[in-house]
Amino acid sequence: MPIATVDPATGETVTTFDALGAEELEQRLARADETFRTYRRTSYAQRAGWMRAFADLLDGEADQTAALMTLEMGKTLKAARAEIAKCAAGARYYADNAERFLADVPYDADAVGAEQAYTRYQPLGPVLAIMPWNFPLWQVVRFAAPALMAGNVGLLKHASNVPQTALRLEELITRAGFPAGAFQTLLVGSSAIEGILSDRRVVAATLTGSEGAGRSVAEVAGRQLKKTVLELGGSDPFVVMPSADLERAAQVAATARCQNNGQSCIAAKRFIVHRDAAEEFQRLFVEAMRALVVGDPTDDATDVGPLATEQGRTDVEELVADAAAKGADVLCGGTRLDGPGWYYPPTVVAGITPDMRMHHEEVFGPVASLYVVEDLEAAVALANDTPFGLGSNAWTEDPQERERLVEGLDAGQVFVNGMTTSYPPLPFGGVKASGYGRELADLGIREFCNAKTVWVG
Ligand code: NDP
Repeated sequence: MPIATVDPATGETVTTFDALGAEELEQRLARADETFRTYRRTSYAQRAGWMRAFADLLDGEADQTAALMTLEMGKTLKAARAEIAKCAAGARYYADNAERFLADVPYDADAVGAEQAYTRYQPLGPVLAIMPWNFPLWQVVRFAAPALMAGNVGLLKHASNVPQTALRLEELITRAGFPAGAFQTLLVGSSAIEGILSDRRVVAATLTGSEGAGRSVAEVAGRQLKKTVLELGGSDPFVVMPSADLERAAQVAATARCQNNGQSCIAAKRFIVHRDAAEEFQRLFVEAMRALVVGDPTDDATDVGPLATEQGRTDVEELVADAAAKGADVLCGGTRLDGPGWYYPPTVVAGITPDMRMHHEEVFGPVASLYVVEDLEAAVALANDTPFGLGSNAWTEDPQERERLVEGLDAGQVFVNGMTTSYPPLPFGGVKASGYGRELADLGIREFCNAKTVWVG
């Protein structure tokens, strides 16, 4: 994939970039290694000051950054502004809490014949972050804010279609006051990752992206015995029971499926409805999906902009065509929009059977699979009948049903009567083919730390 800005609203190539040469790459790795030696000794207060300055730059220059994000991957401008605000909040959250999260943890000294026993959290070194284009700022900040506050340094290999956003991040972090080598963008293709991750100066990696990319990075890191955190795809279930507020569930369902033009790992993708609520929910949901405005992402009236890449739209079209050919019913949408740009409308597909690809593959576009089940147990079984286990949604007003769903859904998170969202104060991550490790909150900042045990006699 060339490193380039291609406008998804028109299909036109705006700018292309050359990948870093071997010498430039070596300089950046050396600078990361060198910077870590001094950066790790800076105080939490110093890092927090730089982190808050970064948050202020994000807020203060939001319009310029948002325009780049929309140009490069097609999200609506209003969604880009919201993402920037979330990044600023995430940066401030770690500025406020990192020291507390990484404070020494005392253990029972008497039990081990010591005067003192505790663990101390220390940074590991330069961490490689391989990131996707869909939330081009948030995915990176979710890693960078805790990593930098912990005393690690970051090397960003961003997706090849968001190079300007990647460079912008490096610029803002550096202008905020962090030392020049604390966070660097590496403009390289994915074929360069094996070499970078095998370099002795790079100590760990985090990847957010597809299952295939995750497996490939985990293999390389495994050979090198380097720690990884993987946030991969999802095909989140959205279970609706008859006791739920169906009107609200249907509204949230449409938002959850079509957020970010349908390209979110934690978008609800499979809507599993109890038969007693099925007719009403289907009517409300299809109505809500039809009401979404598809169009120019720079127009504030737009809800759904173009998909980020031409290939992404082709993948979605193929999945819907496969289901339709095997007997599924397309209740709304289902046909690409005429004209330039990679637009695809909100779509609801019912009557899905296990032989259809949509049943077990992730659909990365605004397409919902609608299922009807006989009872709660069938809902749980179907919800778990997927290789993925990232987020999940449960809609019910019944405490027993709620408990069964919280307990029974195989996922890294379950949101009851609300939309799955990543919040800085809550751990975020998946199970099964959705990856491993946790980001955000206290668990996230400890992933790239050495929990050093100290025994003092
Ligand atoms: P990709 O996996 O194609 O790309 C993600 C990153 O990985 C990019 O930087 C890409 O570089 C790189 N990459 C691609 N192939 C390889 C490889 N074989 N080895 C190493 N690195 C590689 O995903 P998309 O960009 O298409 O994003 C969509 C996917 O990401 C979906 O499956 C989605 O669910 C998942 N995702 C998961 C999230 C989560 O938090 N769990 C959040 C967002 C997305 P390059 O661009 O140069 O190819």
